[in-house]
Order: sequence, then C-alpha cells, then structure tokens
Amino acid sequence: MDAPAVFTDAEVYQRSFDPQAYLKEFYCLSDSQGRPNTFLMQNLRSLYKMFSLDGLRGDTLVDVGCGPTIYQLLSACEHFQEIIALDYTDQNRRELEKWLRNEAGAFDWRPVVEYVCELEGDREKWAEKEEKLRKKVRRVLKCDVTKANPTDPVSLPPADCIVSTLCLEAACKDLAAFLGALRNIGALVKPGGHLVMLTVLRETYYAFNKQVFSCLRLERNTVEEAVESAGFDVKFSEVEPYLPGDGSADCEAILSLVARRRASVTG
Ligand code: SAH
Repeated sequence: MDAPAVFTDAEVYQRSFDPQAYLKEFYCLSDSQGRPNTFLMQNLRSLYKMFSLDGLRGDTLVDVGCGPTIYQLLSACEHFQEIIALDYTDQNRRELEKWLRNEAGAFDWRPVVEYVCELEGDREKWAEKEEKLRKKVRRVLKCDVTKANPTDPVSLPPADCIVSTLCLEAACKDLAAFLGALRNIGALVKPGGHLVMLTVLRETYYAFNKQVFSCLRLERNTVEEAVESAGFDVKFSEVEPYLPGDGSADCEAILSLVARRRASVTG
C-alpha cells in the first residue's frame, strides 16, 4: 500500500473518517484470532509511565485531537480534576460522547480499562475508573490545530497539561505545519505546564475500512527539536519499535514524549 497522493486534510476526516471502523481496527485488545494488540498495550504502558512522572498533575487537562478514543485518558484521569476533549471531526466527538453518556452502541472499552487498572495495581477497579473518567470529561469541543486559537470561537483558560496522541502527524502535511500546530496547541497550556505526546515515527499512511489516511513522516530528533522550538523543554522521551505486520500502517516506532512549557514568552 502507498500513502495517498495528496495529504488527507481535516476536511477528508470530516467527510470520510469512520470512528467505529477505526476503533474496531486499532482499539480491540486482541484481534479476531486472539492475537494481542501490542500497539495498544505498548501505548497504554507508555501513557501510564508518563502520567506517573513527577509534576504530571493539576486541575485541568486538555486532550488535543482525541478522536473517538478514551485510552489516552485512562491513566491521566487519576491526576487531573477536569478534562476537556478536542477534535476536528464531528462524528469522532459524537462517538466519544456516546461512550461518555454510556449510550447503547458505544464502543466497549472495558478490556482496555481493565488492562490499565491492572497496570495501576488493581484490575477490579475498572468500573470505578470508567465512572471517574465519565465525570471528569466536562466538555467535548471542536478544534483545528492549524488555527492560532485551535478552539476558536471558544477561548479556553490555559490548562495544566495537554495530551495529544497520534494527532499532529495526521493533521500536518509538512514540518512547517507540524511546528505551527505545536505552537498553536502550546498556547492551550500554562507556562510551566506539561505536554504529553504519543507520535508514530516514519509513518506515511495508516489504513482501515479500505480507506487510507496520510501521516507526516517524522524522526525522533525532528519531533524533539520541533517541541523545543515551540517553547517547551523535553523532559522525557522514549522510542519503542513497532512494525505493524498486516499492512494497516507503515510506522516503524512510537515516540512517547513529555515536555514542559517554558516561562519565557519568546519561546
Ligand atoms: N487521539 C486518537 C485519534 C487519532 S486519529 C488516537 O490516539 O487514536 C487523528 C485525529 O486527528 C482524528 O480524530 C482527526 O479528526 C483529528 N484531526 C485531523 N486533523 C485535525 C485538525 N486540523 N485539528 C484537529 N484535529 C484534527
């Protein structure tokens, strides 16, 4: 498979991203043959580790490019009081809201929640964690990371932390756009606050449901340098190899990164 000839921008997401198919392809803990989803498990372990670091706590957390998923909030919700989830695509926000409201037909995250509870020491706490997360997500808003104020016309007070998983590399067609988006979302976090990211490396596409989406091909040092030049100090950075064997994507590794926004206004 090849990457799309023209980079799939936000309008393509709005027109053709199918949240249920996406969840089915990438967010079941094991596939139909019972093989474990190592991509997901690895990412859950990384998020657990990153949100256990010193200082990763506070009142407010903003999730940028949440998509239809909650896995990125499962460890995070233990350390923040209020969460605001942002995404460009209407059907993704609706799918997320379906789970938040516990509506019929919502994706079953229970196995994933149990896995995270086990990492945190008690698998039996899954229902408690689901309830906690449902209470803490206060708003689900539209955003565009390419805009100077991504939540325009809403202005959010700067948060203690922002988390963004697998979003910027999907939303940005080139490095200039990636750097611009980092600066834009950087303004959503207080000086001294944190940025937590999961980014796929060297990926040019991902596919599900016979649809192919573009990805900006990134190297570890490119991401770290972009984060630094967007006004953050990188505090934690770890690469884990990941090679999908089934043609659903062409990534080579996943970068977990935590950075702290510098106090200076000049970045
Ligand atoms: N965070 C989720 C979803 C990643 S998929 C996960 O970890 O699985 C990429 C997401 O980026 C999609 O939900 C898509 O709607 C969103 N997106 C694409 N372009 C965007 C833009 N310009 N601004 C904000 N979100 C965007």
